[in-house]
Amino acid sequence: MNALAELRKRAQPAANLAKAANRHPAAVTDSQDSQDSQGGESRIALVSLGASKRAGPAVRADLLALADRLAVDRDHVHRLDDDGLALLAAIGEGGMRAFLLAAEDAATRQAGKVPLDDTAAIYCAHCGPVYVHPGIIDVLPVVDGWPRAAGCPWCVIRKAGGYVPRPHVTCATCTHWRPDAINPAAGVGDCASGHGAHYPVQRHGCGDFAPRKRP
Ligand SMILES: [Zn+2]
Repeated sequence: MNALAELRKRAQPAANLAKAANRHPAAVTDSQDSQDSQGGESRIALVSLGASKRAGPAVRADLLALADRLAVDRDHVHRLDDDGLALLAAIGEGGMRAFLLAAEDAATRQAGKVPLDDTAAIYCAHCGPVYVHPGIIDVLPVVDGWPRAAGCPWCVIRKAGGYVPRPHVTCATCTHWRPDAINPAAGVGDCASGHGAHYPVQRHGCGDFAPRKRP
């Protein structure tokens, strides 16, 4: 899911309310009363969405200026339709900034490269070892020496058959490792997963790396 799709999903209730307001203003007033009893956030979103739809060109100009300040590709802004502009206007400059940076990171991954700030290695349940932003590992459990995640930003790239750059690992800590019979500690061993011969502590990228259980 791309950055804008994620934002749309989160804003779905407010967006639906805005559409309903155009069709049945009275009905939405009733609906808003019940929303207000839950905090009134939807009313704020409705007003913002309505206002921002009228100011699409201005919102786009703001986003282009912000894209230039952040040194991200202006195409992320040019690709936005009116609904996308309205949604971003409703979430303010902080949300616009987060969207542009997320869109830039997603484009970098689509190109098979690691975003500049993604310097931490984690173990994704689906992708294996991948690079992510260091802020992510603070909330992940560490199992057998690796921060573990049930999914990651590379999942969508891998599913589409794209290239996934790998953090360096060593065979000595992998379940697929078959040590050399004569010199198991330092000799060239083999890989049960078909990734060739390596020294046990030779660092290299591997998508099939599977950490050995630690006692
Ligand atoms: Zn993944």
